[in-house]
Amino acid sequence: MKKAEELMLYTPESQRPPLDAKLCISVAAGEGKGRYIKGKTLTVAVWDNCKSPLVVWRFCGDYWTGALRKEKHPTRRQMFPEQIEAVYGRPLAYIEGIAATQPESELLQDYFNDRRPGYLMGIISKALDAASRKRREARDEMQAQETQQMLAKLPELPQDLEKRILARCSDSVFLWITNTKERRTAPGGVRETIPVQRVRCDSCGGKYSVDGREMKHKKMAACRCCGRTMQIYNTQYSARRVWRARTFLLSQPDNNAVWVRRMVVYFNFENHNANLDICPGDIWWTDGASAKHWKKKYFFKDNQWDSRYIMCQSNDISKGMTASTGYYQPRVYAAWERTFEHDLRKVMKSGWIKKYDKGCNFYREVKFWESCRRYPMAESLIKTGWADALASYLDGSDGGYCNHQHLKIHSKTYYGVFGLTKNELALIHGRKDTFTDVNEAVGWKKAGLQITARNLQMVSALSTYRVQDILKEHGLSRSLKYLRQQTRRITGKYDGVISPRVTSDWIDYLDMAQKAGMNLAIESVLYPLDLKRRHDDLVAERARLARMDHLKDVRRQIEEEAADLESRFSIEQIMQKIKKTYQYDGEKYLIRVPDGAKSILEESRYLDHCIQRGTRYFERIATRESYILFLRKKDDPNTPWYTLEVEPGGTIRQKRSYNNNQFDDLEDAKPFLAEWQLIVQQRMSAAEVSLAEKSRAMRDQEFEELRKKGSVIRTGSHAGQLLVDELMRDLMEVEQSAG
Ligand SMILES: [Zn+2]
Repeated sequence: MKKAEELMLYTPESQRPPLDAKLCISVAAGEGKGRYIKGKTLTVAVWDNCKSPLVVWRFCGDYWTGALRKEKHPTRRQMFPEQIEAVYGRPLAYIEGIAATQPESELLQDYFNDRRPGYLMGIISKALDAASRKRREARDEMQAQETQQMLAKLPELPQDLEKRILARCSDSVFLWITNTKERRTAPGGVRETIPVQRVRCDSCGGKYSVDGREMKHKKMAACRCCGRTMQIYNTQYSARRVWRARTFLLSQPDNNAVWVRRMVVYFNFENHNANLDICPGDIWWTDGASAKHWKKKYFFKDNQWDSRYIMCQSNDISKGMTASTGYYQPRVYAAWERTFEHDLRKVMKSGWIKKYDKGCNFYREVKFWESCRRYPMAESLIKTGWADALASYLDGSDGGYCNHQHLKIHSKTYYGVFGLTKNELALIHGRKDTFTDVNEAVGWKKAGLQITARNLQMVSALSTYRVQDILKEHGLSRSLKYLRQQTRRITGKYDGVISPRVTSDWIDYLDMAQKAGMNLAIESVLYPLDLKRRHDDLVAERARLARMDHLKDVRRQIEEEAADLESRFSIEQIMQKIKKTYQYDGEKYLIRVPDGAKSILEESRYLDHCIQRGTRYFERIATRESYILFLRKKDDPNTPWYTLEVEPGGTIRQKRSYNNNQFDDLEDAKPFLAEWQLIVQQRMSAAEVSLAEKSRAMRDQEFEELRKKGSVIRTGSHAGQLLVDELMRDLMEVEQSAG
């Protein structure tokens, strides 16, 4: 029996406590008598409203196992109260006052010897962490001893440290100039006064004078003593608020090892002179075989801050070789002297790297050295020309995971790193400065493509993002064959390379087809012959669905508006009355009488035309001047197509589709509309006839007024035209039947 199974055996099953609370804890004790599980055991469970507990923990001292209701195989991390969601969005650890009976909470407190009141989840968190905390503490203890022994051998900081920092950090200090005048006697005994600038260099301490006023404040100049180019600062200006900071790395050889010390140096210039404030920070030590790293840890003791060095688990020196320059800015290299490189290289024996990577700077050399210690094949990669690719892999500068997902940098064999055979790798010509091409090829290989020169060329233009997975999902070779056909069909030729446009259209099409519920198991659906047309159809369908969705969003708003309109104009009643006269089904089209204001608003919102704006059309319905009717296609009766404003008697004042427009497709429906008008004429009651006459008179009057005012349409495709002309054009009067 395994330890975990034994613990199950010796811990009691959890029972829901008799508490009337949303969340409560049950605690039960047991006794272990097994091979591993000996002594007192404890079962703790948290219950919500469900039958089974949210979480169960079983303890025997430091050892524990657990189970989650929502997760079949939880990681240990997921078992922590901080990670378990109890109420929507709130983890167990942050819910106060979870109920427990008095004896049970005491049982828990006694078991873990922690009697802080109301802290039950905290006790659990601590208990779950106990074993690893103990291990961590033991490790820290060992490392503290080692730190003490090692740091006892740490060399003193050199006497000339300030001088060396000033020499190296000339970019952070100034060439000070003071304007003055000097009396001189020129040849011939003429005494004259000439302007002179006295110069003093922070970096080397040199002093000299130059004639004239050549040196300008804040410009750059080279020091005549040390030759370093520095910024000039004229002492006539205050430098009290000027300050600089620089990270400096110091190397100190120690037998066959080397110490590296990182320090931040603050420069201030109060007396026109660089003053240094050196703050020692991280320390590294390496003998070439192993490396150690310490950082300063600050703590508050006896009312003041103090610090001591603790050993870090990471030991990369390269991490200390860059310094940040501020938020959102790239990192810069720390400052180090020439001797730093000599000292480290001697210990690291990393000089060989330069032979294979000509442009290698020292930071990169150290990074390579570290990667050679970490990855078995790093040295071989550098020696076979993959140095640039390795470098961009190490700092993630060429796309990170996406470009390296198939690369196995930890592999113990050379071709294992690439995931390709020798012959396959040889086929990938060209760029060695990045692993991207290799990664793509491996992706194709994993998708099932045979790696040959011809195949690689075929897929060379395709992006690999999603494409490889999708092709694999639908059968790689059939899909590629289809894409070759479509490339020929759509672009007119296939010259060995599949068109990326065609491919992305197909993937787009598949996405849309899936969402539309089409059956991709059918060959002709998966591989449509006329891809372009089917793709465009689905794009239109998607737009239609999007409009439908939008309609759902505004439904509530429409309902409120409709209720208001109904209370003022009783649209529903009127529509009910006219339904038998105006509703009509033709062969291809039909006329629908809306149920009320709500359906009119919905139609108007869907087609985005003007009826929804204002109450004009509803007023006209209320006075029976005109009605709003829907013209629809018989094979799609629920989708708005055209909205008609119709006078009693069937004269159509306006026909409007999307955005107040009319399209060519309306021409086809015109005979139907004429047919419908005849039917309406036959169905009309006497009252309806008199309404028709009144409406016609009102329309004539309105048109006359519009003509007089010269109203012009302001927006849309008819902008600029006389409104009355447009309305006249739209008017479709009932043809008076003879007799
Ligand atoms: Zn100088």
